[in-house]
Amino acid sequence: MDRSNSYHYEFGGPKGCFCIMLYSHFLPYFFWLSLEISQGGLLLPSTLSSDGFSDHFSQIATVFYEKGLPDMNSIFFYLGFLVFQVICSLILPGVWIKGLPVPTENNKQHDYLCNGAASWYVTLILVFVLEKFNILSLSFMAINFGKIMTTSIIFSDILAFIIYVAAEIQGKSIRMSGHFFYDFFMGAYLNPRIGYFDFKMWAEIRVSWILLFLLTLSASVLQYKNQGYLSYSMIIILTAHFLYTNACMKGEECIPTTWDIFYEKWGWMLVYWNLAGVPFVYCFQAFYILKNDPQLPLWWFIILLITLLFAYYIWDSAQSQKNKFRMQMKGTYVKRYTFPQLPWGVLKNPKFMKTEAGGTLLLDGWWQYARKIHYTADIVMATIWGLSCGFGGILPYYYPIFFFFMIKHRSERDFDRCSQKYKKDWEEYCRRVPYVWIPGII
Ligand code: NDP
Repeated sequence: MDRSNSYHYEFGGPKGCFCIMLYSHFLPYFFWLSLEISQGGLLLPSTLSSDGFSDHFSQIATVFYEKGLPDMNSIFFYLGFLVFQVICSLILPGVWIKGLPVPTENNKQHDYLCNGAASWYVTLILVFVLEKFNILSLSFMAINFGKIMTTSIIFSDILAFIIYVAAEIQGKSIRMSGHFFYDFFMGAYLNPRIGYFDFKMWAEIRVSWILLFLLTLSASVLQYKNQGYLSYSMIIILTAHFLYTNACMKGEECIPTTWDIFYEKWGWMLVYWNLAGVPFVYCFQAFYILKNDPQLPLWWFIILLITLLFAYYIWDSAQSQKNKFRMQMKGTYVKRYTFPQLPWGVLKNPKFMKTEAGGTLLLDGWWQYARKIHYTADIVMATIWGLSCGFGGILPYYYPIFFFFMIKHRSERDFDRCSQKYKKDWEEYCRRVPYVWIPGII
């Protein structure tokens, strides 16, 4: 455990982290109440009933009391989903991958059973069976959205606290500042795991994205039940969330060596956003579409769909190139047959540079054109999520704007980390690949 006085704070230090925690709780409720009270339009005092503050407050409190408090169904559903995903990750077949050496654990390389693809397919089959035989309709999630969301928020706050305390008790805390809010936010434990079950990777892959897709699917099912069709808007957002979730599952073997797994601790930030924030905030567009049914012209639908697929292709193949290159260098590469394996996803004899720090930096494929081209593709996909809702409101555009600033900040953090790690080699790499976001421009 280290508690240094010259600690380098991120996210605005303890005060910044405290504000982010408050805001992260406010945000999902603001979105949900906007859907409940003003059809997904901005929830302002003027959109509430007009008899002053106490009346506004009671209107919000009534909606919250009736639709936002957890009940036995929401608790069983959410915890049942988590338990089901734990069981899947323990017993289904997958590939075994070694993580990077962990310096704080005597360079131990943890084993990861990457069976995300199998868990994803089993989940989809189960959901289909439950729906088809009227055992549990997906529309349950859309109808009980507020209750399930509150359940997830309370659960993730409690879990983050338990993990923090467990790390302190077990002496597993690393990179600690000594300031409670900051350490709670950033986390204490790097790799909480029982046997080969890794909590952090499970939450990042199995909970956030699968739950997001199921929420969007549930909005689609409800739209189909209510209106008898799936709108162009809904098809776009459903496709976008399917592709994103499917990509995380099919390429799970690339995750153990990513930044979140080898560097970020499992603190409140990751626990909350994986277990509650990502699914319940990112699905806003699907529920906005369900409430408002924006009508997109066919030509616009086609443009959005083609742009989405193109951005997805760059995003998926760029990450595949880098991760598979790294796996090949370490001798851990395994060919997968999960769907879809895209062309140019694996480079043959790529150009790369060796560094004094011991690692390698890819200079080929998409990576020769811009250092964060996959972030750019991700921003384009996020923008399409917003555009799928048409131009009738501004809240659907919150996510692309939030995502842009979040990923820009992440890129700056990553730049700092890589500069420190690779020193002169990083300068040379930046000279050889001068563009960050868009080749030839910026
Ligand atoms: P990256 O995939 O960009 O990985 C960054 C790391 O890759 C660096 O720290 C470095 O690590 C290594 N690296 C950098 N350049 C090279 C190179 N040329 N060759 C080989 N290795 C290199 O970052 P993320 O983990 O942030 O993002 C992964 C994906 O997840 C992105 O598409 C991002 O958009 C997405 N994402 C989505 C979020 C969401 O909420 N939707 C949130 C966060 C990320 P090393 O020390 O190993 O060299």
